[in-house]
Formats: sequence, structure tokens, C-alpha cells
Amino acid sequence: MKNKDQNIAAKQHIDDLIIQAPVAIGFLKGPDLIIESANTNILELWEKQTDIIGWPLALILKPDDVKLVWDAYKSGHIHYGYETPIWLNRNGHINLFYFDFVYQPVKDNDNNIIGVMVVATEVTKQVIARQLLEDAEERLRLAIEATGIGNWDLDLVNNDVIASPTLSVIFGLDPDESVTHMELRGMIHPDDKSLVNDAYKKAIKAGVYSYEARIVWTDGSIHWIRTTGKILYDALHKPVRMLGTTHDITKRKQEEIMKNDFIAMASHELKTPLTSLKAYTQLLVSKAQKAGDDFFISALEKSENQINKMSRLIHGFLDMSKIESGKLKLNIQSFDMNELVVEIMADKVLIAPDHVLSFKSKQSIQITADREKIAQVISNFISNAVKYSPKGSAITIVVKKHNEDLKVSVKDAGIGLKKSDQQTVFQRFYRVEDESTRGLSGFGIGLYLSAEIIRLHHGKIAVESEEGKGSEFYFLLPLETGEGQPA
Ligand code: ADP
Repeated sequence: MKNKDQNIAAKQHIDDLIIQAPVAIGFLKGPDLIIESANTNILELWEKQTDIIGWPLALILKPDDVKLVWDAYKSGHIHYGYETPIWLNRNGHINLFYFDFVYQPVKDNDNNIIGVMVVATEVTKQVIARQLLEDAEERLRLAIEATGIGNWDLDLVNNDVIASPTLSVIFGLDPDESVTHMELRGMIHPDDKSLVNDAYKKAIKAGVYSYEARIVWTDGSIHWIRTTGKILYDALHKPVRMLGTTHDITKRKQEEIMKNDFIAMASHELKTPLTSLKAYTQLLVSKAQKAGDDFFISALEKSENQINKMSRLIHGFLDMSKIESGKLKLNIQSFDMNELVVEIMADKVLIAPDHVLSFKSKQSIQITADREKIAQVISNFISNAVKYSPKGSAITIVVKKHNEDLKVSVKDAGIGLKKSDQQTVFQRFYRVEDESTRGLSGFGIGLYLSAEIIRLHHGKIAVESEEGKGSEFYFLLPLETGEGQPA
């Protein structure tokens, strides 16, 4: 008697739990799937009242829905239903809601199936949020397609790629046919393959993919592409996917190549007459010196200065065109950095007599690098320091060891640079155009060339500066031979 009371109490307790559960729960007993218990939430889904308790499920649900429950009963296997849409009248409004269903066969102590437990969880919010996200993605995809940019999604585990039709068009392929990652990679121009491989390796480490390269279409024609991508990681920070865009930059590249060829040709043509102009001027200077004509000496020296300025500019343009076409090569040798700085300063003191140049170094440091090109960088830093700081102010050059690197810095007390300009000054043709630089001429290629020279040496170039107070331009070169040394 006591046992029976306990059983009744236990059943009552379970029924209460089911009634109060925040999810929809019902229990269907036996092969006829008799509704034995159903909480308020499931009654709402079925749009019924408690009077259905004791009815077979087939009396209240459609045959297809009953079949799913019956299958679970008969097979003994749990059945899941995801995001099932159901129209419900809630608070007087009929709307569409979404539910995840679980049909769990229930067994007795002898392992016989005695019924099916139905549990439904509402997932309307999640489904709507996902649909909104999918809509936004679709709109973005359409917008990207409209701009002629191809987009792709690369699975980094099995190398599968999902490519937009525009990507296929950029590669000269049929937009209706699917492409493989290998196929796309195989179309990269042989000379640019290592560049793309390096960009890929870098992306796996740093998370960002970016390169400009040539591709060869199946008809043999060559096209330029620009690709950028971003790596997505799993919870263990393992790279799993890469999303990116690719666009055709053939037209821009052709224009750049034409411009570059023109600059190279014009600079080359100007070099010869300028060299003879310089030789004649020097001849005239020595003649004027012999004749003791001070006016001619001074005028001709000024001419020579201007010729030197022009010659530096032309060499700068030639170097720039070499960089653009990847033809700037380093001539590596071992040399003493202090000796080099002293040589450069001897020249600079002459052309900047109104500035106070000083050089600090505690020890002599040997470095393996292109002496002439490094000289060009230091000389550019000093010329800029002179140009962008007031007469009479100090310019300090420091050479020292900095961890594993050699650091060369040039500090001035000049106009300084805004934070926003500190990165951009190293870009080609970039010049700060404001009150402070008015009247100071230049082409904005000196720092670009310096940055490229340091990049070729696997070094680092940067500036620390405060507007109105001054700047410190510096570069670091790796001291150790082996990895990190210039090729
Ligand atoms: P250029 O001096 O011929 O314009 P650079 O490439 O050498 O070309 O310099 C780019 C720009 O960086 C300059 O136009 C100037 O605005 C800024 N800049 C360079 N050096 C300094 C400096 N020491 N102080 C302040 N601004 C500088």
C-alpha cells in the first residue's frame, strides 16, 4: 500500500514537472500513441485543450506528423525534426513560429518500448536571426557581384572552394561550371607562383591574404588580378576557412606599366645630356677659378648644385621604375656603418651649413648590405631633416645596436608629422600638403624608395614624430647572417 502511494506521488511529481517545463512536452503511450500527458506548451502547438488526454494521437495530428512519431515507436530510434514551421495564434495574432522536435522512444525495465516522449523547443528567434543574416549576406553578395568583384570561400581543411560566377569570369572560365582551388591556382602565371605561395603562407600566419599577380587564361592571354582575403579560425585557433575577393586590375596595371616605361625611358634619356652638362659646368668652374672671376665661380657652382639636384631626382625616378618592374637589385657587401655615416655627413655639412649636424655612435658596427643604397636612405633622411626643420636647429644621427638589429636614426627639431601621415609618408608620391610645407618642393618619392630599399633588406623603416616638435626617422637592419639577411 505504501509502495503504491509512493508510486502515485512519484508520477504526480513527474506530471507536475512536465506541466511546468519551459519546453513543449507530451507522452504518447503504446502502439496507438495514446496521449497520456501533455503540458500547456504542447497543447498550444497542437491547438487543443486538456480534454484530449486519453485520445490517440491520430485523432488530433495529420497522418504525416503521426507517422514520424510512429516510426520512432516502431524503430526504437530517436527522431529529430529541425526548424519545423508552425502557424500559431498567440495573443490574438496568427504568426509563423519555428520548433525543433525530438521524438524519443521510452522503454520499460525489460527494454520494451512503451511509448514516445515528444519534446519541442521553440527556435523562432534563432531562425529569424539566421534568415536576416542570410538576407544580408545575399544582398552583400549581389552588391559585390554588381561591382565586378569575384568572391570566394575556401575550406582550408579539404581545399574545397565556393566561387561566385564573377570569379570564373575573371579567370576566363564558364560562370555556370564549378571550379576547383587547384584549377585556379594552376592558372597563376609561372613567374608569380612563388609570390602567391608566399602570400598564402603569410596569410596562414598573419590572418590576412593579399597579392597582385598575373593569371594565364586558357586562350594564353595574360590578365592581372588583385586578391584579398581573411582567415577564419576554429575554437582552437586553427585556420579553417578563408573568405576573400578577387578583381581584375589588368587595365590599371597596363596603365601603370606604360607610365613606368615612360618614366624609365624619359629618365634614361635625360641622364646623358645631364652628365655632359655637369662635365661642362665643372670645366667652366675650373676655368673661372683660374681667371679668378668670383661672380662666374659662384654662378657656376649654383648651376652645378641645381644639376646635382636634378641628377638625384632622375636617379630617383629610375630607381622607382626599377622597383615597379621588380628590377632593383642589391649589391651586397660587408661595411662599417659609422664610416658610411661620416662620409655622408661630410657631404651634407657642405649643403646644409645652417643646421647643426651631429653624429653619435658608441661602437663601430659591421653590416652586410648594399652600401650605396643604404647611403641613399640615410642621405634622404638627412636631406628631409634639413628641408623640414628651421635653420639653426639640430639634426642628430645615431647608429647603435638594437636587440638583433642595427638601428640608424635621424632626428630633427622640425615641423613634425601628424599621426595620420606617419604611415602614409612612405607611400609613392605622398606629400603632406599644408601650411607647414608650403613652398617646399618635392615629388614624394624619397621615402618610398627608402622604404623599398629597407624592405629588400628585410629590415624595418618607421618614423616617430610629434607635430610642431620634430621627427625621428629610423631603419633597422638585421645584424645576423642567415635568415633575414638580404637575398
Ligand atoms: P619629398 O620630400 O620629395 O616630398 P619624401 O618621400 O622624401 O619626398 O617625403 C614625403 C613627405 O614626408 C614629404 O613631402 C614631407 O611632407 C614628409 N616628410 C619627410 N621627412 C620629413 C621630416 N623630417 N619632417 C617632417 N615631414 C617630413
